[in-house]
Parts: sequence; C-alpha cells; structure tokens
Amino acid sequence: MERMVEIERFEDESTYEVSLRPSGWDEYIGQEKIKKNLKVFIEASKKRDEALDHILFFGPPGLGKTTIANIISSEMHANIKTTAAPMIEKAGDLAALLTNIEEGDILFIDEIHRMSPAIEEILYPAMEDFRLDIIIGSGPAAQTVKIDLPRFTLIGATTRAGMLSNPLRERFGMHFRMQFYTPEELAQIVTQASYKLEKVAQKEAATEIARRSRGTPRIALRLLKRVRDFAEVLDEEEISLERAKYALDQLGVNNLGFDEQDIQLLELLVGAKNRPMGLSTISAALSEDEGTIEDVLEPYLIANGYIERTARGRIATQKSYEHFKLGGDRGGLFDE
Ligand code: ADP
Repeated sequence: MERMVEIERFEDESTYEVSLRPSGWDEYIGQEKIKKNLKVFIEASKKRDEALDHILFFGPPGLGKTTIANIISSEMHANIKTTAAPMIEKAGDLAALLTNIEEGDILFIDEIHRMSPAIEEILYPAMEDFRLDIIIGSGPAAQTVKIDLPRFTLIGATTRAGMLSNPLRERFGMHFRMQFYTPEELAQIVTQASYKLEKVAQKEAATEIARRSRGTPRIALRLLKRVRDFAEVLDEEEISLERAKYALDQLGVNNLGFDEQDIQLLELLVGAKNRPMGLSTISAALSEDEGTIEDVLEPYLIANGYIERTARGRIATQKSYEHFKLGGDRGGLFDE
C-alpha cells in the first residue's frame, strides 16, 4: 500500500494543478513566533536598505521551510534561487550559483547538512565577506582568485540541526526551529486550500483531516486532495465529515495520523517493556535507515509525548502504554 503519511517531497506543489503554496504572510498559518520575528527583521533591513542576514530553518520535512523562504523573498522584493546541498557537487557549481546572483537576492539551500566539507569551505567567506576564493590550477602554479560578490542572503533549511558543522551554523545570523502545527492550524490550512481547489471542506471535515495529518501541512494537503477525489467521484458539492472519514479510512490513515511505520515503531518500543532500544536495533527491525527514523518518524512521536529519547536509547512513554492497554489490540489501539 502507498504510504499515505509519507513525507517525501517529490510529489509536491509543482504537480498540483492549483498552487496551494501560501503567497504571503496572511496565508502562512501558524509558526507565529517565527513570523513575528521575521517581520521585524525584514522591516529593519528594508529600512536600512540592506540585504537580510543569513537565516537557518530547521525541523522535520513538510513544515513549511521552503514556503517561508519564498515568502521572505517576496517580502524583500528579492529574487530567490533554490537548490539543495547534494546538487552542489563541485566548487564550480557553487561558484556558478553565487556569481549569478544580484544584490539583495536570496539563495535557498535545502538539506544544507548534506553539504560537503570542501564546498562549505568556499561558502564561509562568501557568507561572511561576500567573497569567493577560487583556486585555479594545482601544484606550485596554483593561484587563488578572489571574486567580490553582491550582498546576498543565504537561507538554509535542514531536518537535522545536529548534523550541521559548528562553523556553518554560526555563520547564520538567525536560527529558527519550525514547530509541528496544532490541529486547529492545520484545519485552517485545509480550509484555505479547499477554497483554492474549489471543493470546500466543511468545518468538521477539515478538522478530521487535520487531526490525522501528523502535525504537518504537506500531509494535510495531500490527504485533502485524496479526500477531494472521493467527493468528486460521488458528485458531491462539498467535502463532508462523512466523506472525509470514509476516504481517510479507505486510505488507511489512523485516527491520530499515525501510519504503519509509526505503529510498528510504537509496538516495538511498547513490546520492549521499558527497556531502552538503540537506534540501530530499531532501524534493523523496521528495515528503515537511521536518518529517516530520526528525522521523519521520531520527531512527531516525541513532540506528542509517545516516545522519549534517553541516553541509553528510545523508550515508549506511559501515554503509549495506556493506548495499548485501552485498545487491547492494534486495531483499537488508537481509536480514542
Ligand atoms: P519543507 O520545506 O519544510 O519541507 P514546504 O515549505 O515545502 O515544507 O511545505 C509543504 C507544503 O505545505 C507547502 O507546499 C505549502 O503549501 C504547505 N504549507 C507549509 N507551511 C504552511 C503554512 N504555515 N500555512 C499554509 N500552508 C503551508
């Protein structure tokens, strides 16, 4: 079965027939503290007529890092160039990017923790002094060429703040940790998108989709689209609670938005009966790589108090045990 709550970005906005990406602050729901701060910094730098300081966003996939970078660029009336660290393989790739930007432009680098150390070295002076140091040739004939760059803003996004090297992290003037969204915020996002899709979700339907979206806008929007398909096939004008529930059940989305892997992980930890379990053991049991477990699976379960990370490994919390006791079996487990 397709993993409905998967958070990969391949099938994203670009494939939506209508863009659901918020175009300004009004449409960017939640993350209030971050928005408030950014508005101040943006206004200040506009007043000074300066490029914005470099910004780092971190948090699990699908929480709106790319979207907010785009809003910043439109607020700054700046152009934005988007890339991902694994695409910058050689020094020349970065040089090409940096020499093609204009004063005040924004360079957005996703997955910035995956930048190779050699590329990072070139990025440091570019971020700090707006200067590119390029070595041409090799051996005794090698020469360093210095190129002045326009003042630009680097916006970095990462799912793994811990994997960023210190020197790189320190070169960002602002650091923001993205939060999971509340069900109310997600319901607002679903409602807003449903208007854009011209298939309005009734309030209870939006709430139901929100509740099952793992605190993540990208998942909420994906589920909305699938639910809309069900309503469309049945020639229904609006999306009702009944249709939302039916569709989500058909799609195998659990009541709390957990997917199969979440449930497998919780079962594993509850089964371990308070014995902490190491990441490598979990990885082997779930046949999933450690990075995905740490970046995608665990953050939501930790933020909602289902599991804890301890020095000796992961353990299920009382909350998880209670769900198992209540439900008695896997099916009833999460049916609150
Ligand atoms: P990330 O870069 O963190 O992986 P994205 O910025 O690509 O996440 O967001 C995923 C999708 O969710 C976007 O396409 C956007 O439409 C939607 N989205 C994200 N954050 C918000 C928000 N705060 N309000 C409304 N929609 C949002």
